[in-house]
Amino acid sequence: MKPSTGTKVLWAELLPHEFKQRQEACPVVYLPLGLCEPHGQVSAFGLDTIKAEWLCEEAARREGGIVAPSMGYHIHEAGYHARWLEEEVGEENPHMTGIPPAVMLHLFLYQLRAFANAGFSTIVVVSGHSGGNQLDLRLAAEQFMKRVPVQVWVRSDPELVEGLYEGDHAGS
Ligand SMILES: [Zn+2]
Repeated sequence: MKPSTGTKVLWAELLPHEFKQRQEACPVVYLPLGLCEPHGQVSAFGLDTIKAEWLCEEAARREGGIVAPSMGYHIHEAGYHARWLEEEVGEENPHMTGIPPAVMLHLFLYQLRAFANAGFSTIVVVSGHSGGNQLDLRLAAEQFMKRVPVQVWVRSDPELVEGLYEGDHAGS
């Protein structure tokens, strides 16, 4: 997390009265998701997180709302990702911050709970890491919404520009 310039939108930077003011004006919280993983020789390991943070911070600056602390650990070494790792990265150390799906989804549900408890009515989740795990997150969000009266909206960044741009993700 780097300090913001101009309007403060990061939950971690807001004072209590600033938080309440922003939340009252717009009860939306954004959760940027990403991880560190190999993105070739010209991209930083944290590309996925950096993209998600930028989208969330810009949205909050333009439309209101508060950006929650980023989640820089994500699903990778399982399912289709595992095959991608084997084919694209091979035996080399991938230097990544992958966590198991069960841990990720459990933590995700508790993040949603924290946002509902903090008084937000809409939760916008933007994942800079994609390829299918956004579907798992949506399933978890659907279950959460059956029990808690909040709106949870989950998208990966390529889904935001579907039909306009193919995306930058390695191998996809
Ligand atoms: Zn990724």
